[in-house]
Amino acid sequence: MTEHRGGHDVIVVGAGFAGLYQLIRLRDAGYDVRVLEAGGDVGGTWYWNRYPGARCDIESIEYSYSFDRALEQEWNWSERYASQPEILDYIRYVADRYDLRRDITFDTRVEAMRWDDGSERWTVRTDDGRSRTARFVIAATGCLSVPSRPDFDGLGDFAGELYWTSHWPHEGVDLAGKRVAVVGTGSSGLQTITAIAPVVGSLTVFQRTPSYAVPAHNGPIGQRLDDVKSGYPAFRDESRLSRLGFHCREGETGYYTETSAADVRRELDARWSDGGLCFTQSFRDVLFDVEANEALAEYVRERIRGKVHDPETAEKLTPRSYPIGSKRMCVDTGYFEVYNQDNVSLVDLGEQPIARLTERGVVAGDVEREFDVIILATGFDAMTGALTAMDVRGTDGPLAEKWAAGPRTYLGLMTAGFPNLFMITGPQSPSVLSNMMTSIEYHVDWVTRAIEHLRARGKHRMEPDVAAEDNWVNTTNDVGDLTLMPRAASWYTGANIPGKQRVFMPFVGGVGTYKQIGDGVAVAGYHGFEMA
Ligand code: FAD
Repeated sequence: MTEHRGGHDVIVVGAGFAGLYQLIRLRDAGYDVRVLEAGGDVGGTWYWNRYPGARCDIESIEYSYSFDRALEQEWNWSERYASQPEILDYIRYVADRYDLRRDITFDTRVEAMRWDDGSERWTVRTDDGRSRTARFVIAATGCLSVPSRPDFDGLGDFAGELYWTSHWPHEGVDLAGKRVAVVGTGSSGLQTITAIAPVVGSLTVFQRTPSYAVPAHNGPIGQRLDDVKSGYPAFRDESRLSRLGFHCREGETGYYTETSAADVRRELDARWSDGGLCFTQSFRDVLFDVEANEALAEYVRERIRGKVHDPETAEKLTPRSYPIGSKRMCVDTGYFEVYNQDNVSLVDLGEQPIARLTERGVVAGDVEREFDVIILATGFDAMTGALTAMDVRGTDGPLAEKWAAGPRTYLGLMTAGFPNLFMITGPQSPSVLSNMMTSIEYHVDWVTRAIEHLRARGKHRMEPDVAAEDNWVNTTNDVGDLTLMPRAASWYTGANIPGKQRVFMPFVGGVGTYKQIGDGVAVAGYHGFEMA
């Protein structure tokens, strides 16, 4: 690669799992890479989200790097589902093992990047006032890295302690005996509520939409780790070709609509006792057929009623307004049982919307409730938030303008008009519908091969052509529309962000199918991409 004086071959934005692996691959291939990271250390999601109970809901044997056989043998997970501290330890271990920090600039946020058609380079401006240039920029900025910050009236008036799960203090928070409110009942909310209920004085949960949750049955990983390690390469290959990027016994059972009631019950009971996200993979038609979906939903509702003693509270906790699987499923470790404690209460925001925060607490409906601590678990501006938060300008103008009516990408990897800008797990790729580790590794490998392909041919510029991009956007939408997923007002569609255009953003066709398409595009000489 011909280097520009003072510039880099590649700038990678973000030092989470994606940015770190991208650095390893490109450094190994001999490129000069600089990683820019807003946080104070490596870890991304697992650096920021340190709230009590934070835990992965994909099994640790699956949610880990697969690129180095030595690494996957030497690291030992302790539990079936890894906790945030253990995942962060793992990421730090990786950073040390491959000596990554020397190429990372921390505490540095990318504010803007501008493509220059003359020099065919990006100029990247950071919040320390510096500008750097690079031939390629790889946005490893994360799908869930920009918190949604609801603009409650009086947010600044609250005199107690106010925390965001997505930006939890590193030194921890003492909640013992305090009157605590949690706003939000998605994954982070559920995990926080379950973890803090035993220590707080009182807990009030403000719920906008109830979540479907499947038990985790977490515990020591035991012999399972050794069993998987002894056949890891084949195990990983299976994950890469699966629907969700991890093992789910998918396809073993047929269609709900062709299965007897007794067999349906047996299958759902078995999956419920296994625990975890594979519950929704019970039958092939769960995400396509209303009747099949409703059967699973009703099964979960019945379980909720079985766990929560007070029928009125149970009813409030029961999801009814959207198909199961169409919003991010939660994995719980005793969440519903929390509501059987005398010191825990639930406020349904449908009945009593939050009017404002006050010096003393929260006014919802006509009632003011007083708290020492308010915890906001209100989600993220998902998938596009981190990309459009930067002022990215390509050949035809700003990215935020191009995406005003929803993201437009080819394969979730690049967008026309923004040459040499790659995205890891960008919109219109499987990303958040998958084991993100599988999807991250696939994208990083794909991008690395594409850059190598250019170098081998003496080329230095790549972008999708508009027709290929239009086709992919249509394909993603069409496949999404085949399913029940767009029916929910979820963060998959941007519905949680006021003013954000509602478009179903991830590619729902599955990780294995997506890999076949991505591999095919590359083998066909990067079909749909222009290279110069
Ligand atoms: P991130 O880890 O989000 O890292 C992106 C980094 O980019 C961040 O450190 C951020 O600070 C940095 N950044 C962003 N913008 C800029 C900028 N402008 N300038 C400089 N730096 C910037 N996935 C699963 O598969 N299974 C799970 O169980 C799971 N659980 C999750 C639980 C929580 C609470 C959250 C929030 C996410 C979870 N995820 C899960 C998704 C998770 O984000 C991914 O698994 C994975 O960690 C993403 O890695 P990444 O490197 O792509 O992005």
